[in-house]
Amino acid sequence: MVTGLDPVSLLHDDDPAPVRVFGASGASPFVLVSDHAGRAVPRALGDMGVSPADWERHIAWDIGMAGVGRALAERLDTILIEQVYSRLVIDCNRAPGHPNSVPEVSDGTVVSANLAIAEADRRAREDAILHPYQARIRVELEARAATGQPTALIALHSFTPHMAGVDRPWHAGVLHHRDPGLGRALRAFLLADGVPVVGDNEPYVLSDASDYTVPLHAETRGLPYVELEIRQDLVGDDAGQAEWADRLARLLPAALERYHAA
Ligand SMILES: [Zn+2]
Repeated sequence: MVTGLDPVSLLHDDDPAPVRVFGASGASPFVLVSDHAGRAVPRALGDMGVSPADWERHIAWDIGMAGVGRALAERLDTILIEQVYSRLVIDCNRAPGHPNSVPEVSDGTVVSANLAIAEADRRAREDAILHPYQARIRVELEARAATGQPTALIALHSFTPHMAGVDRPWHAGVLHHRDPGLGRALRAFLLADGVPVVGDNEPYVLSDASDYTVPLHAETRGLPYVELEIRQDLVGDDAGQAEWADRLARLLPAALERYHAA
């Protein structure tokens, strides 16, 4: 167990930076963010008591979404801001101090390094990983606002096909809360495009309690947004990732146009 780390000492020179940026803000209205794209672990935390097999599972990251996000950023000619570290280190879609942001158990797997974590250790992870990521998103959105650039925030996620012994029927889902407009427009376009089952606030409901990135950045600024969930078996390989990037690159602009026309 790691204890007593101060915030400056969690990441060292041989650890990757917590934020990875692809592309750049340009004429596109879309800013892409990917809270669970990576599964890096600070060297100081070792394997966190999690087996190699469990590091391959959905509990460590959003399988497929690094590939989808990067391909989509390229097709839309826009920026993608990715979190590099695993959500088993700290979940960047949870508010600081959230009871599940440093999970002790995830889908049946005990994360030893997170059991009864000291407050200072939790704070070190927030300072080194969560806050720089959210700050990078804030900088991007503020820069765009300063130049009058319209922005829609697209939060990319994927979900496991089986959870707690239950098969999930959705191929994708759109999550929304205070402003459902862009999510519902995208859902209609996804269904019309032949995606058979598209959840509406399924498999998760977007809320202030269960989410952080969208409420923090989009809802407080009144930006159009969607938190998109794609089932992981559909984006598990290059072909699936390219297929979804192509689809979203076609449908997101159409959905945003419908949103503004409504
Ligand atoms: Zn996710």
